[in-house]
Amino acid sequence: MTSRKQPQLLVVGGGISGLIYAWYAQRAGAKVHVVEAGPELGGAVGTHEIAGMRLNSGAEAFAVTSPAVPQLLEALGIGESIVWPNPAGAWGVTDAGANPLPDAATLGIPTSPLAADVRRIIGLPAALRAWAERFLPAGYGLREGVTLGEYVRRRMGGKVLTHLVEPVVGGVHAADPNLLELDAISPRLRGLVKETGSLAAAAARLRPQRQAAGSAIASLKPSMGALVDTLAQQIVAAGGKIDTSSRVEGLQALPTGGYGYSVNGEQHVCDASVFAVGPDQARELLAPLNAEAARAIPETPLSGVRLVTLVLDAPQLKQKPRGNGALVAAHVKEVRAKALTHATAKWRHLAELAEGREVVRLSYGRNGEALPDESEFPTLALADASRILGVPLDETHLVAHRVTTWPGTLGQARSGHSEALREFGERLSATPRLDVTGAWRAGTGIAAITAFGREQARQLVERIIEGENR
Ligand SMILES: Cc1cc2nc3c(=O)[nH]c(=O)nc-3n(C[C@H](O)[C@H](O)[C@H](O)COP(=O)(O)OP(=O)(O)OC[C@H]3O[C@@H](n4cnc5c(N)ncnc54)[C@H](O)[C@@H]3O)c2cc1C
Repeated sequence: MTSRKQPQLLVVGGGISGLIYAWYAQRAGAKVHVVEAGPELGGAVGTHEIAGMRLNSGAEAFAVTSPAVPQLLEALGIGESIVWPNPAGAWGVTDAGANPLPDAATLGIPTSPLAADVRRIIGLPAALRAWAERFLPAGYGLREGVTLGEYVRRRMGGKVLTHLVEPVVGGVHAADPNLLELDAISPRLRGLVKETGSLAAAAARLRPQRQAAGSAIASLKPSMGALVDTLAQQIVAAGGKIDTSSRVEGLQALPTGGYGYSVNGEQHVCDASVFAVGPDQARELLAPLNAEAARAIPETPLSGVRLVTLVLDAPQLKQKPRGNGALVAAHVKEVRAKALTHATAKWRHLAELAEGREVVRLSYGRNGEALPDESEFPTLALADASRILGVPLDETHLVAHRVTTWPGTLGQARSGHSEALREFGERLSATPRLDVTGAWRAGTGIAAITAFGREQARQLVERIIEGENR
């Protein structure tokens, strides 16, 4: 029997994309070395401490429209830490006032346009216009590279776009549907419209089961940090190495087929490298190793988000006046926040942790808009929270607050993005021992990143092993 050498893998970037890729590669038989530039692992899946509570500072949940994350959590042994949101769902703030968002919708696209909760927001004439979409030919509006906004407007009318889709896509994906490519945001939608004959029916197929608006998600107890910590612990326990506050220097291809590099002055060799960083850093890292692939990385404008967390002593919020929170339409000029999450209404474990206090998160940074200056907080956040929640709130209710800025984590998949990514993948395949992950390639959000990382890691390790057996 011949003993096989364990493939060595370098993973640059210790955000959630890098950790998930590293964990799956390790499970497929590789030994991994994760190098993270910052002092903390997890990237936008971070936590911070406010008023004695450890709370999510970035991502607070994951989509369960695909089984990828629940399967990962089970495999990690933390499946029992999954928590589900209050079924109250989210509200929308539009020029029609504050109303619960339609129960049945995908990306804000209503699956039953004549339902009472849709009519309440867009009015009967616009609801009828949206309903009549089923009589349009299935291919209507489906040109290559069409944006989500153009497509929704053409099939269902402008009010569905401005009052339902824009608030949801702006609040959840930090993106403007008028710039976002349909195929990039929802790769299955095009095929489903052709199959079912209508956008409403296709949107219905994308919903896992009947769930309240905004609740096709779950989270982790005590915080999303549990995912980051468990991945890191298991990587190290299985013999992997993780360096934080570190950079990879002198990465170069070796004649043997692998790569040489140094970290903190120590020399290493590996069989393959994975870049799990933003598009600009990936371009820089790839340039000397595969210049064609580096040039093919699509320009992905990144939008910044400023998140303001308020801990409040405000018993009047116990009634959950806006369910789990609200998404604000861009035409509502008196509110600057694009979304508000009433975290203690949404998550029971947080309500228990907060011991009677309320936790509210507001996010700022609509596509193309400058972020409000930090000096405007907490005043601006209290004023916006009052307007959104319909409850007067001021400094007397404030226990603590914290402002977190994510300068550029959410990528805007513009028209042509899917084609550009396909081309990038083709060029990258010329260097089979290099791979690239990250939200800009895998898709924004932990679910897309997990599904992508799992498959890519398995294939990369197989390629290394096959290469060695040849
Ligand atoms: C405020 C906010 C809320 C969100 N909410 C949700 C949510 O509820 N659910 C959801 O699914 N998604 C959510 N998202 C999106 C999700 O968090 C991101 O898609 C995901 O975290 C991106 O992970 P990543 O690893 O690709 O990138 P990042 O998190 O940006 O990680 C990249 C890492 O690479 C490191 N790095 C960069 N360059 C180098 C280098 N040269 N060498 C070494 N390391 C380097 C960085 O320091 C960073 O740690 C949210 C995002 C934000 C900003």
